[in-house]
Amino acid sequence: MKDKQISFLKDALDFLDEVMRSEEQRLFFVACLSHLSDNEQLLRTQLSDVANTSKPRDPKTYVNWLDWLITKINDNKKFIWESREIKELILFPMIKKQSGSGGSGNETSFYIEPVGLDANIPKQDDTDASASTTINFSTVYYQAKKLKRTPWYLTACSPFFEKTRNRQFLLIVLILYFIAMPISLGWMLVKPGFSIYLWAPLFIIYYITFVPVKNILSVSTRKMTLLEHMFQPLSSICLSEVSASPNTKKIGDISRKLSSVQVEGKCPVCASVYGLENSIILEKQSIFKSRIIGRCLNNPQEHQFTFDKDLMSGTRLNS
Ligand SMILES: [Zn+2]
Repeated sequence: MKDKQISFLKDALDFLDEVMRSEEQRLFFVACLSHLSDNEQLLRTQLSDVANTSKPRDPKTYVNWLDWLITKINDNKKFIWESREIKELILFPMIKKQSGSGGSGNETSFYIEPVGLDANIPKQDDTDASASTTINFSTVYYQAKKLKRTPWYLTACSPFFEKTRNRQFLLIVLILYFIAMPISLGWMLVKPGFSIYLWAPLFIIYYITFVPVKNILSVSTRKMTLLEHMFQPLSSICLSEVSASPNTKKIGDISRKLSSVQVEGKCPVCASVYGLENSIILEKQSIFKSRIIGRCLNNPQEHQFTFDKDLMSGTRLNS
């Protein structure tokens, strides 16, 4: 049980790999997990020993690092939970902190506690563990990794996604912009007294903001969008996720947040035939169909899968 919890948390570290501040930090976290696999708890005074480097940092820094890790894991619980191919745990092994006053015998410590998942995380059928070990060519499980750089416009718009009313406001403003800009640009061209010095900068602004606005519109209406930018890894998407369950069951009351992740999947066919890992990336289905699907790089024509952002899994597409 403990081994499974530790390997689960190591997968969580993989998920956060891109946002780790340094290799030193990553190694420290791995060392902490190793310590927790042999011990019930990790005390503040043990942190420097656990880090096992020639230049240990202040224990306060290590505590801050672990606080950061706990927050990140908590924020991305759903991705980390759903990204596992073999669902062998029923509860989420969470790293917890027990704050102490610093006196002897009353020290800050860290430990692992299995916690229930939020209501918005679907329950796993853990009784069906045997089924997932047999090769199933029709199902793909996606793995998500946190993106190092979230595009600036998504960070800027993120607060609007917390409340439905703000989301709608943003949507209306952007749709107006989307429609009004090309109309005014066209109108300026035919209007007497046309000035290229006014028109050109406006055109450039529209050109630069076109993709950001399209992506925000798409993430607010479809709840996900592909981030096809330069400097962004392939298969990067932004999801509008449920962040808090509403008290009422009305879908409109749901509070949301934006998360940017890179998604990969192991093609069940190519993994079994060639041992290929993560050959599936997310793409648009075709130029004409904007549905996001998982496509195998080894056999892009035949190995296509649906992408369910809430289950982080997909099934084979037939056509
Ligand atoms: Zn394949």
